[in-house]
Amino acid sequence: MSTGQRSRVGARKAGARLLVPMTVLFTVWLFPGAARAESDLPLFDAHVHYNREAWEVLPPEAAITILDRAGVARALVSSTPDDGTLRLWEQAPDRIVPEVRPYRSRNDMGTWTKDSSVLAYVTERLQRGIYRGIGEFHLSGGEANDPVPRGFVELASRHGILLHCHCDEKAIEDLASLAKGVRVLWAHAGMDSSVQTVEKLLDAHPNLWVELSIRSDISPGGVLDPAWRALFLKHPDRFLVGTDTWINSQWERMPEILAGFRKWLRQLPPAVGEKIARGNGDRLFSPR
Ligand SMILES: [Zn+2]
Repeated sequence: MSTGQRSRVGARKAGARLLVPMTVLFTVWLFPGAARAESDLPLFDAHVHYNREAWEVLPPEAAITILDRAGVARALVSSTPDDGTLRLWEQAPDRIVPEVRPYRSRNDMGTWTKDSSVLAYVTERLQRGIYRGIGEFHLSGGEANDPVPRGFVELASRHGILLHCHCDEKAIEDLASLAKGVRVLWAHAGMDSSVQTVEKLLDAHPNLWVELSIRSDISPGGVLDPAWRALFLKHPDRFLVGTDTWINSQWERMPEILAGFRKWLRQLPPAVGEKIARGNGDRLFSPR
């Protein structure tokens, strides 16, 4: 390469270096939305678990770093066992909203509704006075009237905290009716319940809020479904987003999962998108 060629290449390189910032400037100026960072739509993630399997591979500091990367301002956290929630809360008490999960181990999942030792355990944990909810617990149709769920309603009422249920439609209907003075958060919008059913339940139960983790039907191919959109506009104060870090791979994917949420949240009027992104969570769990 001759000196002349080299200087021409150098000039082109210098030009390219200038061109990049110019392009960014023009893009921001012409299309203000194009350069929005994650931090422009901070999220309240209403479905985070920090289960035992995560503790070693993802110490509390590393877990909080993932929240940072994913643009999560605050998170509702529960864990099996509950000590995981305490560890994360101790790391970032201003960002972690703790709820007590009734499962001392996975074995409790299938038997807890009739196990009085679970009620005693949750009653004792709540003495700490830091928890804002009981959950996430799993409940099927017909179980809401079992002794332990009834006990949870009474505890939630006494402590002024929320119930977070992975419920089928019958169970959420029963629980919301049973717990009239208590706020109930419905995990995954019932997982496979139709938009019409979610609407009917929200209309009927003013104490019900809906969390939207693992619902690919909301925005197939990244485009907000019209029926969901209409429901978000009808009840803009009643929805929250969530990741559901039930296994470690969900922790790894958290930034990607929440980027998917932002994509459809931005297809809503900004005031509605911001409520579902963060505002509703902040109002349900206003800092104490
Ligand atoms: Zn969960």
